[in-house]
Order: sequence, then structure tokens, then C-alpha cells
Amino acid sequence: MQTVWVLGAGQLGAMLQQAAYPLALRVVPLEPEATELPEIKDGDVVTVEREQWPVTPMTEFLSQQPSFMNAGIFGRIADRLYQKQMLDELEIATAPWREVQESSSAEQLHTELGEDVLLKRRTGGYDGKGQFWLYQDQGDEVPSDWLGHAIAEQKIPFEEELSLVGARDSSGKTVFYPLTLNLHSDGILMASVAPVNRVSHLQAQAEAMLSKIMDASNYVGVMAMECFRVGDQLMVNELAPRVHNSGHWTQAGACVNQFEMHLRAVSGLPIKAPEVRGQSVMINIIGIERDRHWLEIPCARTYWYGKEVRKGRKVGHINVNHPQKAAVQAALTELAAYLPEHYQTALDWVQKELRKAD
Ligand code: ADP
Ligand code: MG
Repeated sequence: MQTVWVLGAGQLGAMLQQAAYPLALRVVPLEPEATELPEIKDGDVVTVEREQWPVTPMTEFLSQQPSFMNAGIFGRIADRLYQKQMLDELEIATAPWREVQESSSAEQLHTELGEDVLLKRRTGGYDGKGQFWLYQDQGDEVPSDWLGHAIAEQKIPFEEELSLVGARDSSGKTVFYPLTLNLHSDGILMASVAPVNRVSHLQAQAEAMLSKIMDASNYVGVMAMECFRVGDQLMVNELAPRVHNSGHWTQAGACVNQFEMHLRAVSGLPIKAPEVRGQSVMINIIGIERDRHWLEIPCARTYWYGKEVRKGRKVGHINVNHPQKAAVQAALTELAAYLPEHYQTALDWVQKELRKAD
């Protein structure tokens, strides 16, 4: 049996493993800290569920394998400085930015980028961690340990955040899911809605951008592109060369979900344009205990990751899907009773979106 070794053993690795069964592939997620190195055979492939990893005997071993997919891209995407340079080189719209150098000052960054500037650490950030807002009217300074380790971005007055999840195979064929509408709170994804017909006119623009990126890097597998929408213009916020949280709804709402699509692409099986079924909504479960009532909600499926619950930590998600929007709306109303108060804003946002005319 062909084995797909996955660098990283979080929930994404587990969901890749779950998706492998119908393909009769063996998927083995590997902890970076694990000491027992795998025996990689001819025909196996190595992929990742994270774009950054610590240097350990395991990650050194995996990243040196000839079958390590997309080896060249991680150095460019995992460092925001190189990722931004890549987007500029490809002439893909992105938030105007500067490198934060040892000699940079807040004053200079405000002159170049405006009153509100978002510092992002070059590496290591996720779920809004590794960000620092620099407000001119508050006289903020660049923290000294960020000098030389960050980029600075102009604040984008976006109307909303959309993401595109796509896949490319080794022959260069690309397929895409419909644009997904995402709500973030404090930098962490709370909810996704897909498809969203009112943004379908932006689909071609988004696909052209992600195709250009995947083609330029000869990428194989699933890649996600997070965007800001400003009018009818998309700007890339960031790229993730892996399966992505904003694609979790595809487990319920597409005939081939993002996890299976990634496995197909990296293992040389055919990829195909995924037919989308009905209306999907994904609610992230962040920092709260599991509630068994979630399992009783109609047209909903809960994924519980089995991780220790900590504040701000993603510990599960709930996919709600039905051919009729009204059924999704009713399920979310039921679900609201079993989610804490601070979820109401996100649930209201989803309900408002579902009420909008297509
Ligand atoms: P992470 O790796 O933590 O997801 P992102 O760069 O995606 O980092 O930023 C997290 C969130 O912060 C975004 O989804 C968006 O809501 C907000 N954000 C990021 N960049 C900007 C920007 N330039 N202007 C306004 N908001 C931003
Ligand atoms: Mg992000």
C-alpha cells in the first residue's frame, strides 16, 4: 500500500488520514518531535499539514526525502517577507508592506503605510498570534524584539474576507472550490459560509490569482489563498500551502473534500472539479468544552479533535450542510442554544449572510 507521510500530527493530519480510506492510501501523520524515523519506500510521498516546523531529527529527515512534495516552496511561503516578495514579483495584489528592519521606526512606517500599521512576525504566527498593531495616534513604537523579525502592512479597510481553496496536480491541472466567506475575530477564524452566490463574479479573478501562484511554484496539492475584498478587487492576505481551516466545510459540502483532493494530487491520482452540494456553514469550536447536544443538531456534523481545551485554541468544528438554506438556518438557530454567549455575534453574522439574496 502506498503511504503518504505527513509532517505534523494535528487535526489536519488526522483529517487527511480520515479522507484516505476510500483511496486505499495509508496516511501516517508524524510528530516533529518523534524520535523513531519512518521507513520511506519507493512510491511513498511526504507531505505536510503545517508550513513551519522546528528543526528536529524527524523534520530534517522528512524534508530531505526526494519524495518530499513542494520542497522549494516552504522557505518562500513560511516566511512572510519572502511570501510578500513572491506576490509582488507575480504582480498579485496584496496589502502594501515594508520589511521591518533593525533600523525601522514607527514614524517611518506611518509615513509610508499610514496611521494604522499592522506588524506581522515573519515566521511563527498563526490564528492572529504574531501580530502587533501600531497606532500613530497612540504613539506606539515598534517593540525592540520585532525589529528585523517582522513585516509591516497597511491596514486594509476590507469589506469582507474570502478565501479560495484549490488544488494542482503534477501535470499542471488545477481545480477549485467556490470562494468561501470567512469571519475572523481577533485574528482567528470563527465561521465560514460557502458557496456565496453574490461573490461568484469574483471566482474567475480569484482562480487566476491562485493558478498563477501554484503554476509559478510548480505546486502539487491543495493550497489556500486568504483574500480581502475591497469593492470588486481581491487582495491576497496570505497563502497556506496545505489544507486549510476555511476548507473544512468541503467535508460536508463537496463530493471530494479538500483532504481527499490533497491526497489525490500528491499521490498521483486524478483530481477533479468538485461538485458542490447545497449550502454549507462551518463554525469553529475555540477554547470551549464539548457539548453532546451538538451531536443532535439536524444536518450538522461535529468534529472534535480530542485536544486539551485552552483559551483561543481550536478544538473542533461543526459543519452544517443542507440542500435548502432554510434548513441550515434552522439548524444554526438550534445550535445557538448550545454555544456560549460570545458565539452569538458570529452566528448572527452567518444568519444575516444566509438571508441575503443570491
Ligand atoms: P494568521 O496567520 O494569524 O491567520 P493573517 O495575516 O491571516 O495571520 O491575519 C489574521 C487576520 O488579521 C486576518 O484574517 C484579518 O482579519 C486581519 N488582518 C490581517 N492583515 C490585515 C491588514 N493588512 N489589514 C486589516 N486587517 C488585517
Ligand atoms: Mg490568516
